[in-house]
Amino acid sequence: MADDWDPPLPAGYNDANRAFLQAFMARGTLSFREGQKILAAIKGALEDNNNDDAVVPPQSITMTDFENFIRAAREAVEPLDYDIRNMRDQVRDGERVWAFINAHSDPATQMATARSPEEVAYVKRLLDAMFEQYNTPRMEVMAVDEGQALRVSRPAAAAARRESGVHGNGGGGNDNNGRGDGDSDGEGGEGEGDGTAAAVGRGLKHSEVLSLLASLVAEGWLDKSRDGFYSLTSRALMELWSWLMATYNDPDSEGEWQRIKFCEACKEIVTYGQRCNEPDCTVRLHDICEDGFWRTRREQKCPKCSTPWEGNHYVGERAVTSRSGFQRGRGKKGRRSQVAEPVEEEEEVEEEEAEEGDEEEEEEDED
Ligand SMILES: [Zn+2]
Ligand SMILES: [Zn+2]
Repeated sequence: MADDWDPPLPAGYNDANRAFLQAFMARGTLSFREGQKILAAIKGALEDNNNDDAVVPPQSITMTDFENFIRAAREAVEPLDYDIRNMRDQVRDGERVWAFINAHSDPATQMATARSPEEVAYVKRLLDAMFEQYNTPRMEVMAVDEGQALRVSRPAAAAARRESGVHGNGGGGNDNNGRGDGDSDGEGGEGEGDGTAAAVGRGLKHSEVLSLLASLVAEGWLDKSRDGFYSLTSRALMELWSWLMATYNDPDSEGEWQRIKFCEACKEIVTYGQRCNEPDCTVRLHDICEDGFWRTRREQKCPKCSTPWEGNHYVGERAVTSRSGFQRGRGKKGRRSQVAEPVEEEEEVEEEEAEEGDEEEEEEDED
């Protein structure tokens, strides 16, 4: 009997809806402009069987048309635990992108599908580096450069880091275990748990890390910036949203500093944007939301602590690249944090890296 079950479809769901959903699923993400092209092609194909010359211009598809198709697609896939979310690009032009996602995504089921256990484990270490190690109250980078990505190539490095205390807070994992209140606990611990040690013991060679990073960029999970920083794309953020919240944030600490942060204006996740000049204040703002946000206010002051908002304190890679040390390093062949690979001619840069390390230690003490 269970075989006869079909998911309920929205009223009026037709071939055009089916074709649209298929095209969407094949791509994973859609901008409005891409949606216009797809819908124009579908309309042309369905409406004019007898006229090969009939062309529906993409511009004739309105945002309302597009949103209606998105809504129907969303209703159709919801019973199957899929969802369609949208988010504006934080880094570039703010273009909105819609993503077809699995509502229960974690890095293993999404970013690392069809990869080896070692690669899955590496991706989790990479996310820990982005959202724990390089995401502290004073330095919310949430991105890693190539040297930092290579440094977590093997689990031993991560373990040593934990022992030395740099990684000591262990994100939400430890807290969760302490509370012991259900399902999400397992997830929180999994990323670092000893249980996976056997499977991930080998880690990855540097060459394997570099090709994995390249394919994650090619597949649209990671962005690589001009300055060489890897960060999660909008698609990855939408796909992993629930997992990131469960893994890195503490639901009991609302109002306090959290690893996953949201924009004061649009309430979406911020991994690239601005922060209040007051170091202890938790207000964050996307660059792309800034204009609209201040336009509705009389003064450019933080809405929470009233500190004048200067827009020169950053979330994302600019937390690193706006510092004078980075600018100096760029003068010579660009900054590289090659602690993992000895590079003789860049001693000064190595020192910089050491400084950064010290700061992280201090931050952990503050915690
Ligand atoms: Zn925003
Ligand atoms: Zn503030």
